[in-house]
Amino acid sequence: MKRVVVIGAGVIGLAIARRLIDHNPSFHVTVLERHSEIAREASQHNSGVIHSGIHLDPDSLKAHFARKGSLAMRLYCMSRGIMMRHTGMIVGVGFRNLKTLWGEWRASFSVLRELKNRAFAQGISIKTLTCFGVKRLEPHARVLGGIYIPSVWIIDKKAYAKSLFWGGKKRGVEFRFEEEVFGIKNNGHQFIVRTKSNEYEADILINCAGVYADVISNLARFPGYKIIPWRGEYYEVVGVKSSLIRNCLIYPAVRPGSMGLGIHITKSIDERLFLGPNANIHKEREYVFEDKTSPREFLEEARCFLPQLEEKDLRWAYAGLRAKCISEGKEADFVIKIESTDPIFINLIGIESPGLSASLPIADHISEVIRMSI
Ligand SMILES: Cc1cc2nc3c(=O)[nH]c(=O)nc-3n(C[C@H](O)[C@H](O)[C@H](O)COP(=O)(O)OP(=O)(O)OC[C@H]3O[C@@H](n4cnc5c(N)ncnc54)[C@H](O)[C@@H]3O)c2cc1C
Repeated sequence: MKRVVVIGAGVIGLAIARRLIDHNPSFHVTVLERHSEIAREASQHNSGVIHSGIHLDPDSLKAHFARKGSLAMRLYCMSRGIMMRHTGMIVGVGFRNLKTLWGEWRASFSVLRELKNRAFAQGISIKTLTCFGVKRLEPHARVLGGIYIPSVWIIDKKAYAKSLFWGGKKRGVEFRFEEEVFGIKNNGHQFIVRTKSNEYEADILINCAGVYADVISNLARFPGYKIIPWRGEYYEVVGVKSSLIRNCLIYPAVRPGSMGLGIHITKSIDERLFLGPNANIHKEREYVFEDKTSPREFLEEARCFLPQLEEKDLRWAYAGLRAKCISEGKEADFVIKIESTDPIFINLIGIESPGLSASLPIADHISEVIRMSI
């Protein structure tokens, strides 16, 4: 019997634990989580969008897993009654005022061309939109034109994480909460994983620790990774203006490879309207947000599409931390790597967006990698 320890009960750790025990009922799989419940970090504080992959470098792991995840997530949610909604996505060109209109159109044009190339390279179907096309989808939005990506969905991210948890638990995964890993020793044939009050033996150790994944990798003596947490905050549109958007997600045309996808407009699964996330370096790895960004920064961006919005319509909602793994000069990609084979240590580092969309195929991939290594 193989002993597997997964560090972190976000959607990545949960999906992997569930998949491993599914494929290998004889494994003893334990998930160690420092909080008292699942999905308290990035897996809960995100936009809940199932992405098509259009924003991503077609040759990246992110794009590969997002493409696979787009269908896999829909099938998973549909077959388990997890709420999801087809939204589609407009990547559009808005403008602040008539003076800046021409400049903004020109700057966005090359971005849209790049996105079209990326869509073409990945076989993602898109439509070119005029301002009239946008009006048909979202009558209150002021968008000069852009592209429409039909294969985009919103899911109930909480219900999804819970379903992975119960799926694993029913099959025999052991979950240990309030177990923060602070020591890892390799005794030559197993890892000994230490928390404050316990020690766990692992023939296979899988690092899914989100913003702490580089720290865990260091503990296991696989240095060389550096995560910089990038905070993404959201404001909610409250009151009557929350119904300005009917259904579709509206993203600005932001150059691929930028730190985020720009402050976008999202109607969540429970029909609330959110603006965000922004992208700022966060000095802590903990979810403590004392210096909240002013709503004016969000208004400035969102009013390019919804000029009706005013500061009094916005209420700070929540924030998440992106686990950005620094990679010199390249677009940041997921790092999914077997660091050692006896005992097995697998790193999942830099699993930022679209990690939610990619979680199921990542879990399949890890299960396959382990099958081939034992
Ligand atoms: C603002 C924002 C918006 C996003 N929007 C989207 C989106 O729309 N669509 C999409 O596909 N993706 C999106 N993402 C990305 C997605 O949320 C993440 O890729 C995904 O949640 C990563 O899951 P995870 O399990 O790797 O990390 P996490 O959910 O952060 O889980 C890591 C877990 O490890 C635990 N842990 C850490 N250290 C230890 C330790 N020492 N011992 C024990 N446990 C430990 C933590 O407590 C945590 O529970 C977004 C992310 C952010 C931040």
